[in-house]
Amino acid sequence: MTGHVLEFLGETKLELGPVGDADGNWRTGRDDAGVLWLVLDKQNTGMNTISQDVIRELDQHITAAEADLPKALVIRSAKSAGFAAGADISGFDEMSDEGAVELLHQAHNVLDRIEALNCPTICVIHGAALGAGFEIALACDYRIATPGASFGFPEVQLGLHPGLGGTFRLPALIGASDAMTMMLTGKTAHTQRAESQGIVDVVVEERHVAATIDAIVSGEIDKHEPGLTSRAFGFDQARSLAARQMRSQTEKQAPKQHYPAPYALIDLWENHGDDRKAMQQGEIESFAELLKTETSKNLRRVFFLRQTLKEAGRGDDGISHVHILGAGAMGAEIAAMAAIKGKSVTLSDIEPEPLGRAIKKAGEICKDKHLSATETRDALDRLMPDPHSYGLAHADLVIEAATERQDLKEEIYEGLRGKLKTGAILASNTSSLSIADLTAFAPSKIHFAGLHFFNPVSHIDLIEVVKAEATSDQTAQRLAAFCGAIGKLPARVKDYPGFVVNRALVPYMLEAMVLMDEGVSKDVIDTAALRFGMPMGPVTLADQVGLDVGLQVAESLSKSLRTPMPPISDDLRRKVEAGDLGKKTGTGFYDWSDGTPHPDADLNDAPDDLTDRLILPMLNACVEVLREGVAQDADQIDAAMIFATGWAPFRGGPMHYAKQRGVDEITAKLHALQKAHGPRFAPDEGWSSLA
Ligand code: NAD
Repeated sequence: MTGHVLEFLGETKLELGPVGDADGNWRTGRDDAGVLWLVLDKQNTGMNTISQDVIRELDQHITAAEADLPKALVIRSAKSAGFAAGADISGFDEMSDEGAVELLHQAHNVLDRIEALNCPTICVIHGAALGAGFEIALACDYRIATPGASFGFPEVQLGLHPGLGGTFRLPALIGASDAMTMMLTGKTAHTQRAESQGIVDVVVEERHVAATIDAIVSGEIDKHEPGLTSRAFGFDQARSLAARQMRSQTEKQAPKQHYPAPYALIDLWENHGDDRKAMQQGEIESFAELLKTETSKNLRRVFFLRQTLKEAGRGDDGISHVHILGAGAMGAEIAAMAAIKGKSVTLSDIEPEPLGRAIKKAGEICKDKHLSATETRDALDRLMPDPHSYGLAHADLVIEAATERQDLKEEIYEGLRGKLKTGAILASNTSSLSIADLTAFAPSKIHFAGLHFFNPVSHIDLIEVVKAEATSDQTAQRLAAFCGAIGKLPARVKDYPGFVVNRALVPYMLEAMVLMDEGVSKDVIDTAALRFGMPMGPVTLADQVGLDVGLQVAESLSKSLRTPMPPISDDLRRKVEAGDLGKKTGTGFYDWSDGTPHPDADLNDAPDDLTDRLILPMLNACVEVLREGVAQDADQIDAAMIFATGWAPFRGGPMHYAKQRGVDEITAKLHALQKAHGPRFAPDEGWSSLA
């Protein structure tokens, strides 16, 4: 085959055939061998998404191909970032029911015609092919992947299931069992797994893509044939049995009342899994129904909240070397995450043992994150234990993650005077001390701020970037960019007791302890919170955070806030004194020796106001931080609560939930709780400006 043009995009060389400039979102061309190349290069973005325009233009290109049949059709992406990130969901909210159904029919029609084209159709995939991008790839006869390619259907995370033929093309290709698992979990299959499952036909280095296309065109490579397993579910009874198991499996992760999409998918497959035409019609109808659900609307909202925080983390942080003071639970994970993401990290502690443990932990995190041997080696090379703190003098950012004591932190900061580079930022990971109080001891006030990570750092996306009065905007901006650079989401907030997240969480946990003192069992309390949609009940959460840490934060907030907090229970103090600190010591309120507790109690005898007693104080605290200007806006609070605590995402965040449920209804309920249980439930004055 001749006439191929090699393109250089960033550092990635992509084989793009003879394509010319983009006409719309696609670049097209026929090479000397008569192969038609359709290369997706979506306008004004670094990553392809599948929008109405992309489909409409694809329709035109396929019509042209039908009229003048090429020797073969190649579809790929011109973006170095990957193939396609899925459907462009920005227009979903405005779509009418009929509009959605019509659009889905049009898109199905285009993909069906690619499938029916009377010549080999080949999709070349580098990077991610997700959602609708994956569905375009599935409509082709062959899929060539380059190393690093990945495939997935993340639709369930948006309260949807695949909508452009994925529900029947993937089961036909790899068998219903693997396909349903992929669609129900939203998990991605990386190159190797995709090859072994039969999603891709060939995996080759980019430089061999052209030769592989030649080989397909000349008939040297056979199409992947689905194995026998794909036929096993042709019988209604077999599907019904499997569907029952899928439902009970899914119920554990995503209860039907909150997350309807996986169940709609299971129903669809159970009813029509042996009839492609019915599947296609059913998929379109079911997808259009799901689009209208509150769950999907709220989950799409969460997607955009994430995008907004990601945006806030863009820019140059000017930070290549980070020094971390304190290699305990937090310092160790912060160090590992920064090293994995390419920062040079030095890590010090007053004790030698934490340093050894931190390096071991970093290795575990690399494994957990599926890093290759080379990536792990490089990350560990960048992470240096530094007991004498030599790294301080070279660091662009110093993160203090030492024991939570004001006097100790003051002493550490005073010891840093004259030792830091000019312009270096000092950031404290404190969860309960005032950033303003610590500022007085910082070597440079404008270069000092809070950088509040959440435990475990390697799993929780959010970081609160806490700006004190004296912190410069540039410092806050660089810290936000640092969060982005290490793959996290920054929420820029103001100094305030508990900042945003702990301010809202502490009353939730303390109220649970008051309820336990009143005789309500921990399982009942946690079950009520789980049924509301929290990822963890407040008692489990307290144990998970560590009762000592929780007590410290609770005491600090109770002292510094003007609003009354629930009283701190004697049982909590007794447990901390006895060293029963929760998960980390094996016992707290729960016994953790058999792993994470899974409370599932009967709520028939639970107090009527149980759920509101747990949830409404959180909402009240969110309204307070909004009124106090701690957070920038209500959306930022929702994002912080969802990405730091997993706050019921299908409800769209606490502020969104409050508005949906009705401000008047909530304030009336708070007044009733205040009357029944005391002034800690008094509605914040900020509710009046939300009404
Ligand atoms: P930790 O007790 O696990 O670790 C603290 C480490 O600091 C210990 O290894 C200790 O030896 C070391 N240290 C003490 N004095 C030091 C000094 N002068 N110089 C260097 N190192 C020193 O505590 P942690 O849970 O990692 O908490 C650290 C900080 O992070 C605290 O400010 C805490 O409030 C904050 N934080 C903790 C959590 C959490 O859930 N654990 C969450 C967010 C923030």
